[in-house]
Amino acid sequence: MAILPITVYGDKILREKTKSVKQVDDGIIKNIKDMFETMRNARGIGLAANQVGLDKSIFIIDLSEMEDYRDMKPMVFINPVIESRSDELIIFEEGCLSLPLLRADVVRPESLQIRYIDTEEKEQVMEADDWPARVILHEYDHLIGKLIPDRVDADIKKELKEQLSDIKSRKVQVDYPITTL
Ligand code: ZN
Repeated sequence: MAILPITVYGDKILREKTKSVKQVDDGIIKNIKDMFETMRNARGIGLAANQVGLDKSIFIIDLSEMEDYRDMKPMVFINPVIESRSDELIIFEEGCLSLPLLRADVVRPESLQIRYIDTEEKEQVMEADDWPARVILHEYDHLIGKLIPDRVDADIKKELKEQLSDIKSRKVQVDYPITTL
């Protein structure tokens, strides 16, 4: 396994829609193991493949460090599709390993249904709400090239501008490996 540098705001791959996975072969399994190691090293609760420079439709989540989700197993979502989103919206403060130190309140659906392929190439459908839904929606956004600033209103986006430019020029202290300019 390997800890990979995390892509940050400004890296082109974070703005592109990722390619779907044709086959869950040994290479993909290795990618997923590296993603878990990279996420844990950075103490993240979710990570998308393009956050480690991989153009693949995969994200992982692990909420087991959170008080209310100790029993929830780490999960891998391959070629995910959000099938439905609740009309009910909820606000949470979000962070992102690709936007070091930035925090912002983001409004998203409270619950959802997602269809995806697991590591055994079986199709799965999952319903999620609360924090799992939040992390899933955030990570799914990565796979379609969207980031937190795209999900906040213009006023908040303005407030984030300077911080985003600092991240882009690597003027931030980060205690995990990130890509270099
Ligand atoms: Zn993120």
